[in-house]
Formats: sequence, structure tokens, C-alpha cells
Amino acid sequence: VNEFELIRTYFQSHPVARDDVVVGIGDDAAVVTPPPDTHTVITTDVLVAGVHFLSDADPVSIGHKSLAVNLSDLAAMGAEPTWFTLDLTLPDVNTDWLQEFSQGLFGLARLHNVQLIGGDVSRGPLAIAITAYGLVPTGQMLLRSGAQVGDAIYVTGELGDAGLALKHQLSLLQLSDEDIIVVSDRFSRPMPRLQEGMALRGIATSAIDISDGLVADLGHILEASGVGAQIYLGRLPLSAVYRAHLDEVGWDLALANGEDYELCFTVSEQNRAALDSAKANFPNGLVMIGRIESEAGLRMEDASGKPYRTKAKGHDHFAD
Ligand code: ADP
Ligand code: MG
Repeated sequence: VNEFELIRTYFQSHPVARDDVVVGIGDDAAVVTPPPDTHTVITTDVLVAGVHFLSDADPVSIGHKSLAVNLSDLAAMGAEPTWFTLDLTLPDVNTDWLQEFSQGLFGLARLHNVQLIGGDVSRGPLAIAITAYGLVPTGQMLLRSGAQVGDAIYVTGELGDAGLALKHQLSLLQLSDEDIIVVSDRFSRPMPRLQEGMALRGIATSAIDISDGLVADLGHILEASGVGAQIYLGRLPLSAVYRAHLDEVGWDLALANGEDYELCFTVSEQNRAALDSAKANFPNGLVMIGRIESEAGLRMEDASGKPYRTKAKGHDHFAD
């Protein structure tokens, strides 16, 4: 197959066809029509084999996750996803790999009605870069910088299962076969919390998606907002699998491993009732884990009320 056949075969027959795409794949560039009174929200992420995933990882999961991490960023902005582009470098043309990769990619794309509108293909070490676009009504985007003293801090879903999966992969933790299935799914097929993010428009004072771990990502909110926080570890939403291994692994996988792709956000006292009314948009759960304070820094308290310090930091590609 040549480059054009490859694009046509695996990427052009896309299951999503949106009315706002004037020109999709096939011309020199794509053309889209954002509706009036909206901002276009743009995010990009690159996944590199050997850095973000193992070269022999399941291609369906790689396809899913490379889009999911981008949609998660749109969710954290309160945006509705609309379009994306896909840049691929491939060491060779492996048709089975491409078939499965596009299956994972388009499975998630279909779920959220987001259309592939262009991209690029080149020979090179296996890497996937996606740029995703979304829309948010004017002025309603969620930012990291709006947290106020007294706001309650929330997280969606459950934290730490991706970390359990990684620890198991590295043979640092024994899990039952059943548990492995649950946590590896959380690691390799994260579900971006888009419905949740959109429901938080006009309600949350700040938001971020948890890609590098709660400590690091909540830390970004605190820094951007010029505030501090207290969180209660006893309130952290942990899965049944995590709870069963809590004595063994401690809190740090839930606090600092990352890859959970849940949302962390703050809500003022005044908006608590509105959040309550929006509960139906949080089918994977929603818990209050702490409060924004004026004193800078993040303070943690364990289940018995004792101060807790973590040495774990969020993931940093350029840390020594
Ligand atoms: P050009 O040489 O003008 O950059 P390309 O040959 O790279 O054009 O691409 C031809 C068309 O195919 C363009 O519309 C481009 O957006 C699309 N395309 C290329 N690679 C991909 C891909 N991986 N996924 C989706 N569309 C792609
Ligand atoms: Mg090109």
C-alpha cells in the first residue's frame, strides 16, 4: 500500500460525518464552520512508542487512548468535542496494526461524535499526535485559575486504578485475573469525562483533568488560582480493587501515578445546589475531597486525621 491508499483505507471512511465540516480529508486543509457565539477550544498530545506505551501494546487501546487523552483535555475546559486531526509516524505499514488502531480510534470518535478531518503520515519511529477541537459557548470555558478560598474540591470517578495496572505490569504487585481485567481497562481505555465537563459550565470555578496525578494536577489549579488546599485522603474515591490493596500500596498511586483521566474541579458554596441538580451527568461518581484555603500549598490528612506527606510527584518527562 502507498501513502494515499493507506489514508483512504484506514482513515478516510470515517463513521462520523458532521454538518459543520465543509471540507474534510482529501484537500490541502480542512474547513469547518464553528457556530456563532462560541469559542473554539484546541488541544494536542503526542504519544510515542517506548515512552507512552510499549511498542507491542494492543493497537485497539493505543487508538482509543491517543484520542481519549485529547478529549480529556477538552472535557477539562468544558468543551464539546467536534473535530480532530491525526499525525502518524509508522516504522512500516502493518495492516493488522492499522486496522486495530483505527478500530480503537473510531470507536471512541463515534461515541462522542467527533470527526477526523485531516492529518499526515510519515515513515519514522511509531508515534501518534492528535489535535482535537471543541466548542464552548462564549465565556463559559472552565479554567485552572478560578478557584476561590472556601470552594469545595471534587473529583469524578475513581483514582489510582491506572497506577495499579502499571504496578502489576512491572511485576511490583500481584493481582487476581479478575482484578487485572478491571484495572488494565482503566489504564488502556480511559473514558474522557466530556458529559461531566460540559455539565460544569457555569458551576465550577476551576477544572483540570487528572493526567499526572491528583497532587500535581490539583497543584496546577492552586498555583494558577493563587490559593492552597486541604484534602482528606479518607474521602478519595478508590475502587474496590484499590481498597483491597490499600494497605499494600498506600495512597500514592491514587495521589500521584496519573493516567486516571478523571476531572478535578472546584465549586463555590453558592453553586453547590446547582451541582447537586446536575448529578445525573456524573454516572461514574462524584465526591468532595477537600476545600480551597488561602494558605498556599496542598495539605493532606489521612483517614485518622493525621497529616500526610507524599514524596510522590506527578509524572514529569524531563525530571532527572
Ligand atoms: P499534503 O501533501 O498536501 O500535506 P497529504 O498527502 O499529507 O497532503 O494528505 C492528503 C490528505 O489526506 C489531506 O487532506 C490530509 O489531511 C489527509 N491525511 C493525511 N494523513 C492523514 C491521517 N493520518 N488521517 C487523516 N487524514 C489524513
Ligand atoms: Mg501532508
